[in-house]
Amino acid sequence: MMDQDTIAEQVRMCAACPKMCRHVCPTFLAWRSDGPTPHGRALLIHQEGIGARNIDERGVEILYQCLQCSHCLTWCVPEIDIAQIVETTRTRLVSEGRYPTQLEDLRDSVLSNHNPYNEDHSKRTNWNKTSNSGSKKLLYFSGCTAAYREQNIAKATVEVLESLNFNVIVTPEEWCCGSPLFRTGFREAALEQAQHNVDIFNSIDADEIVATCPGCYKTLTQDYPAHGLQLNKPVTHLSQVLEKTLPAVAGVQTKKRITYHDPCHLGRHVGEYDAPRRVIQKASGLTPEEMERNRENATCCGNGAGLRTLFPNQAKLIGTSRIEDADAIEADILVTSCPFCTNMLRKQATDTLEVLDLPEFVLEMRKGRDMKGD
Ligand code: SF4
Ligand code: SF4
Repeated sequence: MMDQDTIAEQVRMCAACPKMCRHVCPTFLAWRSDGPTPHGRALLIHQEGIGARNIDERGVEILYQCLQCSHCLTWCVPEIDIAQIVETTRTRLVSEGRYPTQLEDLRDSVLSNHNPYNEDHSKRTNWNKTSNSGSKKLLYFSGCTAAYREQNIAKATVEVLESLNFNVIVTPEEWCCGSPLFRTGFREAALEQAQHNVDIFNSIDADEIVATCPGCYKTLTQDYPAHGLQLNKPVTHLSQVLEKTLPAVAGVQTKKRITYHDPCHLGRHVGEYDAPRRVIQKASGLTPEEMERNRENATCCGNGAGLRTLFPNQAKLIGTSRIEDADAIEADILVTSCPFCTNMLRKQATDTLEVLDLPEFVLEMRKGRDMKGD
């Protein structure tokens, strides 16, 4: 969390900038308006800070139209962290009762069901068929999207890890990591989920925690410690676990054209760009082709920070724009390393493009299955 003096200083600088960063802001491109831009958001906060104008209902809406993708940060010379500023301001707005009321369903679902999808908590691990064999004990944090919406990713993760001789542990006591609530400003409710997870995970006998969702990974490794919550074992992203076992990841050679989408939370937010690319290369024998917007300059899938909950049409428009990037290089397979991105990109994909999450891709390659379009 940023302190209010730092925010005041940063939004003052931003308010006087030529604002070139807006040309990479996905919400500027989706709305074609100067409101939902990095500068537009900073100006709202600056004006309220100096007492010129309160953030009204439209202002709240603009602050909740940010994906917190941090793409603007890569273009900002003074390094104004709009995503952080937006998140801290949302937390303040929530504490003052100023937030889009549609978010109450999401908050209440996480509080009562421990997932944002209004699904029954008792079904969270219905997909699980772990054998609990293998040597190194890995506690798999599936996250809500893989548990309820992309179960094939959760199943593939376990299958790949067990084939690499890991003893995969899945607990039905896992709750939402809290990310959807941290990002939308419901910090107290998020901390309730976080504290439960820390208590449960610290009591489980495992060497490491592995997450497939970069949002969960970032929350466990950055938000939990920032709020004084300490896990007693290291947390790793699946792409990093697989990178360490590269020789064993090797699969069949493919003739397909493969590309990779960098999830914002794994790329810009934690700086992991290479591990998934190395795993793809080893699994398929091919170096992934790069889309025009890649690595630090990769555009968001449109699914982040509550945007799809509040503004589904614009979120889908942003997802479609990412699919167009893959189509522009005539990719056959778009691999990503995030169940949340996979969920959005799969829905927006064209018939000629297959979207796979990293463990699904590795599994396909290792099994040497014919893939779509062969
Ligand atoms: S975020 Fe940075 S580049 Fe963008 S308008 Fe603000 S100061 Fe300028
Ligand atoms: S974090 Fe992303 S959506 Fe938000 S202002 Fe920056 S570029 Fe736009």
